[in-house]
Amino acid sequence: MDLELSPEQSAARALARDFTVREVAPYAAEWDRAEAVDRGIVKKLGEVGFLGLTLPEEYGGSAGDHLTYVLVTEELGRGDSSVRGIVSVSLGLVAKSIAAWGDEEQKRTWLPRLASGEAVGCFGLTEPGTGSDAANLTTRAVRDGGDWVIDGTKMFITNGTWADVVLLFARTNDTPGHKGVSAFLVPTDTPGLGRREVRGKLGLRGQATAELVLDEVRVPASAMIAPEGKGFSVAMSALAKGRMSVAAGCVGIAQACLDAAVGYAGEREQFGTPIAHHQLVQELLSDIAVDVDTARLLTWRVADHIDRGLPFATESSMAKLFASEAAVRCANNALQVFGGYGYIDEYPVGKLLRDARVMTLYEGTSQIHKLLIGRALTGVSAF
Ligand code: FAD
Repeated sequence: MDLELSPEQSAARALARDFTVREVAPYAAEWDRAEAVDRGIVKKLGEVGFLGLTLPEEYGGSAGDHLTYVLVTEELGRGDSSVRGIVSVSLGLVAKSIAAWGDEEQKRTWLPRLASGEAVGCFGLTEPGTGSDAANLTTRAVRDGGDWVIDGTKMFITNGTWADVVLLFARTNDTPGHKGVSAFLVPTDTPGLGRREVRGKLGLRGQATAELVLDEVRVPASAMIAPEGKGFSVAMSALAKGRMSVAAGCVGIAQACLDAAVGYAGEREQFGTPIAHHQLVQELLSDIAVDVDTARLLTWRVADHIDRGLPFATESSMAKLFASEAAVRCANNALQVFGGYGYIDEYPVGKLLRDARVMTLYEGTSQIHKLLIGRALTGVSAF
């Protein structure tokens, strides 16, 4: 792999850095306290092209490569993980799935709107009773004439209270003659679809997270995306790439921890000298730096594999597992460098630690990724 970025990739990274410095970072603490990012950020993300980065040009995207996507995601994550998550879900999980699996009408209906930020997407897989064991979901779609009628509850849905469309996974095999789990594109204003905001999160407080309750939600047969029974394949292929985006967001958090900790260590004086002069403080800083670079290289490798058409699922699990655990470690080490000041929200590292923590939980917990990697190594499923 050539670690030298192309001029286009460097330009995209510079654009994302500039955007984050101007439009995201100055407001991140305020949005965290208010438990809501300013919704206007979605339009701005669309205008600058980040919501259509890897979509085909004919649907309003800019057909960028995956390394470019990783670079932009890292920069957004460096500024605010809540904003990064909007892109990872609306583009990475929803729009990319429509581009990969949707029919022409579904693509024309949703992709230009998702790419411009006029519409936001959410990904409805997890349920109150099925998280890691997602294949056992219980939301069901029953065939009624030319329609499907959907009942069930989805939990922890990122962008859920804002989204215009949910990529929803439901069991279709309850109707005789029908198969497996299928994926549907359900506009969120469809009658019977209720949304409740999940509040009081430890981190990602600016992000809209919702419980979705579907009570006899009726959609036409044309709402199904991909062939019937292929829903779990849609979900797993979205998540395999989505995990790369989470990993990139973790690199952003870890880099923000390094920036903050190095800066503070140079300014804060104890025992008559900046704390950066103390060897054990340098150990904390160097531990963060090694984690940042290791996580970044693992994440770039996934993008490189996707861009070159190579297998990437296990690499994606490795990157997500390592980067998420590393982000928590880096935030913890950065907080240690800040001493007591790290513990109050006037300084950035407490929020970075809270935002990092969820990364080891969603899009597959660390345990689930160890099982995925273990299965790839041994051929044995130990779930
Ligand atoms: P559980 O699956 O109940 O796991 C509990 C513990 O048991 C974990 O430690 C887990 O690792 C462990 N465990 C489970 N099974 C095994 C096993 N076989 N071997 C060893 N250990 C095991 N979901 C969506 O569909 N869309 C979203 O947009 C979305 N956004 C989210 C945003 C936030 C802020 C959060 C917190 C979650 C979000 N999720 C979303 C859900 C997330 O993906 C799940 O929380 C995650 O998959 C874990 O499921 P669970 O919480 O039910 O935990």
